[in-house]
Amino acid sequence: MAVELPEGVVLSRLDALANWCRKNSLWPMPFATACCGIELMATAASRYDLARFGAEVFRFSPRQADLMIVAGRVVMKMLPVLQRIWLQMPEPKWCISMGACASTGGVFDTYAVVQGIDRFLPVDMYIPGCPPRPEQLIQAVLDLQEKIQAEGTLSGREFQRPWAQVRRRVFDPQGLVQLEVPPALRSEQASRN
Ligand code: SF4
Repeated sequence: MAVELPEGVVLSRLDALANWCRKNSLWPMPFATACCGIELMATAASRYDLARFGAEVFRFSPRQADLMIVAGRVVMKMLPVLQRIWLQMPEPKWCISMGACASTGGVFDTYAVVQGIDRFLPVDMYIPGCPPRPEQLIQAVLDLQEKIQAEGTLSGREFQRPWAQVRRRVFDPQGLVQLEVPPALRSEQASRN
């Protein structure tokens, strides 16, 4: 039997409501190190206006941000800085890898450049291109919003996934963060190699 609700009353799950709030109030932390950063800035400016999707409040304090956008190549010397900022961001948090350099090292196939930030950070969205267009970054934000709406729970069950377990890290004496790879992922990586 269908229950008729009074006007103005909507029923939903608390999880869905929390995710709806989360996805529409993303506060990005820009980690722009190279030319991709210019496209990132353009995305927030008036022509592309990222504000239309609720993700325009760029913050330069990790404590106030929940979306890391890495735009540009990351060299090994910068890696501890990137990791520290990521660790300082409160959960729940997400990461977009913008451009070929951040995702794969790009054309800089050298010992000094990180060959893909996903070796050290859990990345939610990858944007291909050199440089990617602002429209691609907007699409990545929209895709991420879909993911947040579909996956998030109030109890944080999503952080029990293998990738989330990678978020537990320890610092080595040099200050570089080492990944604690969980056994399930370790065997998956071994079978890939
Ligand atoms: S992907 Fe291309 S545009 Fe982006 S940082 Fe690398 S070289 Fe620059």
